[in-house]
Amino acid sequence: MDNMEKVCVLCGEPLSRYGNKKINGGMLCRNCIKAASPWLEDEDYLKMDLEAFKKHLDYRNANLEKIDAFHCDKKVEGKYTLYLDEENKDFVISKRKDIKKENADVLKLDDIGEISIYEEGYPDSDDVDICFAVKMNGGQIEDIRFRVNEFPGLEKGGKDHEKSIKLAMDYLDAFENEDGLDFEQVEGE
Ligand SMILES: [Zn+2]
Repeated sequence: MDNMEKVCVLCGEPLSRYGNKKINGGMLCRNCIKAASPWLEDEDYLKMDLEAFKKHLDYRNANLEKIDAFHCDKKVEGKYTLYLDEENKDFVISKRKDIKKENADVLKLDDIGEISIYEEGYPDSDDVDICFAVKMNGGQIEDIRFRVNEFPGLEKGGKDHEKSIKLAMDYLDAFENEDGLDFEQVEGE
């Protein structure tokens, strides 16, 4: 590795051992990704070049005003909480309690493409996780995916398994109760 590869392509600071992200054309340091959306996954970073990442940061900057104007009228609480702004037709999903401080992504209900609830298994056990995913049409955030159960690995048919399915359905109901939204339930994946 030469020196060029050991510095962040955005700020030029040396990379630390952990917490860097690889993008198309180099590495970003831990500090530079702090402002990025928590919904970005490693594959999303890999798809971005430096220009695309700068655009993402512009989007995150513009989100500061949106989260400031966000008014929650309804929420469904869990490890991740769903917040709905029914007047502006916006929603936020975040595991942090202070969504303004966190600059949580404010997304449009109208931009939702598909919602799915599915179970994810483990290779060496029968345990499962309940997952909730929202696919967005266009915009900076393509996909929101998260584990509904607080701790990984639920025993099928157990109390926590049932509780997590109910919570996932509560999220779905809250979305469906908004005008003009109707989602088909997708089983498995
Ligand atoms: Zn940096």
